[in-house]
Amino acid sequence: MEEATIHEFDFALINEYFTELERQGPGSTEETLRALSFIGNLSSKTRIADLGCGTGYQTMVLARNTPASITALDLYAGSIDKLNATARKLGYQDRVKGIVGSMENLPFQSEEFDLIWSEGAIGSIGFEKGLNHWKGFLKKNGYVALTYESWFTDERPAEIEKWWLDAVPEIATIGHNITIMQKAGYIPLAAFALPETCWTDHYFVPQQARQKEFLKKYAGNKAAEQLVAFMRREADLYSKYKQYYGYVFYIGKKI
Ligand code: SAH
Repeated sequence: MEEATIHEFDFALINEYFTELERQGPGSTEETLRALSFIGNLSSKTRIADLGCGTGYQTMVLARNTPASITALDLYAGSIDKLNATARKLGYQDRVKGIVGSMENLPFQSEEFDLIWSEGAIGSIGFEKGLNHWKGFLKKNGYVALTYESWFTDERPAEIEKWWLDAVPEIATIGHNITIMQKAGYIPLAAFALPETCWTDHYFVPQQARQKEFLKKYAGNKAAEQLVAFMRREADLYSKYKQYYGYVFYIGKKI
């Protein structure tokens, strides 16, 4: 049987699986802060957009570590409800606002933001397309900081190459992505790979308990079983092929 690809799963089912988890993609507080260390002039006037924010783990890291106002955007309303509830609970409701919207068609004014943040999300609209679209919403000298799936080597085993080409057709090497960023009108300031623990401790390990719960709730449901099998396969492939790919933080400054 042909393996399912991520695009064949129901959006609501994927989101139900993921919104119970703290993070919906690889990453960590430490790496969010490392990326933030490249951004200058953060004040209470700074406006940040966090695109594809999910339930907002990294949004709250940004809120805790900057005095900025943050607009967090995601396509999935369930994640945005959760993000806004967390912001209220932590007392950030006056400067952190989650809204439902699409990263491909942003509901903002031109040059509204000083910083566009996005962890683990740009691959679903395309790296080049996202960088080009988002640039219009950044002030001159504004920053973009995002994570994106990237190859670490020029050649890869066929099994992992196929898996990633199905999920993110444009996946490329770090050097290639830096060139795209520059062509899109940004000065590339930094690119660094997320450490393995961002995938293991912060992404795959917390999923194990969630998978058991999910299979119990959806006993006999083929789509739910296939989704869990898919996520388990993603973890197995990572442990087998992690020297060939990972998430990379790319930080650029609009020219
Ligand atoms: N940044 C979070 C979530 C990453 S998962 C984290 O790192 O934990 C990717 C998120 O992108 C999901 O929440 C998904 O709903 C969102 N997404 C996918 N396509 C989108 C689009 N076109 N516009 C806005 N959000 C989108």
